[in-house]
Amino acid sequence: MKIICIGRNYQEHIAELNNTTPEAPLFFMKPETALIRAGLPFFYPDFSEDIHYEIELVIRICKLGKHIQPRFASKYYKEIGVGIDFTARDIQQQCKEKGHPWEVAKAFDGSAAVSNFIPVDDLKNPEDIHFLLKKNGETVQSGHSAEMIHPLDALITHVSKYVTLKIGDLLFSGTPAGVGPVKSGDKLELFLEDKKMHEVLIK
Ligand code: ZN
Repeated sequence: MKIICIGRNYQEHIAELNNTTPEAPLFFMKPETALIRAGLPFFYPDFSEDIHYEIELVIRICKLGKHIQPRFASKYYKEIGVGIDFTARDIQQQCKEKGHPWEVAKAFDGSAAVSNFIPVDDLKNPEDIHFLLKKNGETVQSGHSAEMIHPLDALITHVSKYVTLKIGDLLFSGTPAGVGPVKSGDKLELFLEDKKMHEVLIK
């Protein structure tokens, strides 16, 4: 199982980090060991002083596929959830400046939190899925899938040009604006539409 993450998929988030908009979806990976196991908190790692939350819609791949054509892309996921792409922003900045890969800032153990999944068909408007993140009870990020630069189906098509998608793989679809730091003692609550889906404590 692998975790594929999309970067720079919401215009306002690109602006807040002073990044440029990529023509094609930008992706990177996290290994299976990045997943926070059920019931465990996020343990703040000692190699970073600026860990950020990024809430993202996450889809679970339900069908093996490579070179998936746009008209078939929606058949490759039936379930959706929300997750946090924890990012060591200070380390990522150093990587960007040096032109180095991001894994050290993005793929570390515990860098991915994921909720349970619900059927996409149960959503009232699958074309515009709303999700939000609360930190210590206050809304810090609010996203609409309609604001994605590259929609979910386009992400499936693009990634599968390069990487075979397997059943159980997760795809994090990028974060909207409002990313920010966490510290020990914080509580993150993840919502999909009006439903609280998941909670992560920072230790
Ligand atoms: Zn992200």
